[in-house]
Amino acid sequence: MLVPKRSRPRAVAAGAGLAVVCSLLVPALPAHAGPGSPAAASDPHRSPHAVATGHGGAVASVDLDASRAGIATLRRGGNAVDAAVATAAALGVTEPYVAGPGGGGFMVVYLARQHRVVTIDGRETCPAACTHDLFVENGSPLAFEEARHSGLAVGVPGMVAQWARAVHRYGNRRLADDLGPAIHRAERGFRVDDTFVQETRKSLTDLQAFTSSRRLFLRHGQPLPVGARLRNPDLARTYRMIARHGASYLYDGPLAAAIAHTVQHPPVWTGTALTVRPGIMTRRDLRGYHPEQPAPTHVRYRGHDVYGMAPPSSGGSTTGEALNILSGYPMATESRTLAMHHYLEALRYSFADRNRYVGDPDYVDVPLHGLLDPAYAATRRCLITDQAAASPVAPGDPYRPYSGCSSPGAAAAAADHEQSTNNVVTADRWGNVVAYTNTIEQFAGTGMAVPGYGFLLNNEMTDFDFAAADPTVPDVNLPEGGKIPRSSMNPTIVLRHGTPVFAVGSPGGATIITTVLQILVNRLDLGMSLEQAIAAPRVGNFNTPTSFAEQGFLDTAVARRLTRLHGQQFSVVTGPLQIDQEIGAATGVELLGHGRLRADAEPVRRGGGAALVVRTQR
Ligand code: GLU
Repeated sequence: MLVPKRSRPRAVAAGAGLAVVCSLLVPALPAHAGPGSPAAASDPHRSPHAVATGHGGAVASVDLDASRAGIATLRRGGNAVDAAVATAAALGVTEPYVAGPGGGGFMVVYLARQHRVVTIDGRETCPAACTHDLFVENGSPLAFEEARHSGLAVGVPGMVAQWARAVHRYGNRRLADDLGPAIHRAERGFRVDDTFVQETRKSLTDLQAFTSSRRLFLRHGQPLPVGARLRNPDLARTYRMIARHGASYLYDGPLAAAIAHTVQHPPVWTGTALTVRPGIMTRRDLRGYHPEQPAPTHVRYRGHDVYGMAPPSSGGSTTGEALNILSGYPMATESRTLAMHHYLEALRYSFADRNRYVGDPDYVDVPLHGLLDPAYAATRRCLITDQAAASPVAPGDPYRPYSGCSSPGAAAAAADHEQSTNNVVTADRWGNVVAYTNTIEQFAGTGMAVPGYGFLLNNEMTDFDFAAADPTVPDVNLPEGGKIPRSSMNPTIVLRHGTPVFAVGSPGGATIITTVLQILVNRLDLGMSLEQAIAAPRVGNFNTPTSFAEQGFLDTAVARRLTRLHGQQFSVVTGPLQIDQEIGAATGVELLGHGRLRADAEPVRRGGGAALVVRTQR
């Protein structure tokens, strides 16, 4: 498996803990053969809602009920922003382990009337009392899992403020209207499926540790069975109060008090063996939260304009740098093996820069201009040979004047691939498009639900490094009061001649970046449709000695040739659950012209997603 978060300290040297046990290799997933293949067509695990083509608007998310909430909103006059908020709020009900008011996210919006792309950063912030030593105890960094289920891990949730900002500035309706379908779903409940049970199992010990979470999600301390109905009247009430009072209900009202109290006095179940550390968030931290609106990242690639999320996410900068590197290769005409070699090497060098330079730009100097400059990318491209570089490769120097090819050296790298996030893509009949990735970090976040309010608190602060890996190299991602941890979330909108062509995003920790880049390359270079690009087997490099791949990729002739001809080495993502064996669960929407839309959701991974359109094309 990839470097498991649970057992590694943050900011470890690349390669540490990368053991892959061959006996754990799993059989290829049938659908990973790709759509159009006989295996995909007959795959019983394929979501019946993976693709939809039509008019009037589109929604793609990881969940059918949530996508329906978005479509209902579009039908009632909402635009793509309203639909994205309605879908995300519904995901807080039906996917409470990866979404909800206790989390945060990044939204990229194409505004048709203004012909421009804007972003909303609703990422969680560290409470004012945070210091570099947030996760240091007796001089040593905490183990990841120890930190994860603590109050220390909880960042000030940004999601609800982000929804309010998005709807107020860019929506057609009121936030109260957009919350309607989620309130309805929380009251009526939803049917627990196998994926939900897997996600419960993944975080079972953490959920069991809190009385509030046991009450909300477990029965006699165990996961609900497949087919059970999970109702969440507490969350329905929370959403209703937000609908009535606005976001201030969460940031400056009774809910703010409840969140701060839960963080400082976690509702620990007496039977747990876990040590649960209290946190430091106060009502003042909540009162001070404001979403930011940084300019999007932008690069040109194969005649397209690719817009993404700026720091504190590393999504847009890392994808942008890799695309700039790749633009120097004729990816569409070189052999598939050589194209994939270039793809992996571009990632290797881009991740070296991401790990060294990208953090919260309000706290550290992020050389974003250099990282996105094609001239800088040329100094990274010239390091790439026909053989895989030995990782970790050193970061470059993205400050002008660029110093040409720099030499390899030590660098830090870390990778995780838990899909504990979700991506929503929406489009409307007016031409607006939204890509929105949001999360509570790990599956079930801290595991800690706010008693009586029906949602889990994030553990986003564990996205910070716990301690600098190398005291001689500045670490841009250490905790500080008010600072936002580096993210990999990568909602992306692609335009051509000023018009959106498609939008995409994915869950998956650091593999979000590789997943989105691979989809872009598949779609823009390798001749795949967006549906095929999303379904194709995945591989990515994180400035790590081995690239991480799904078994479906390792089974290909390209993988074998990459090793034989270019010295690429691979590790398979593996683990006891099906969701451990997958990378990403992407969603996208393609704009086909003349108002036609095609929504694409992940067909198989994480149980398959749901792509819907307002009016289906017959
Ligand atoms: N917290 C992660 C990030 O911001 C996303 C969660 C995940 O998918 O692991 O990069």
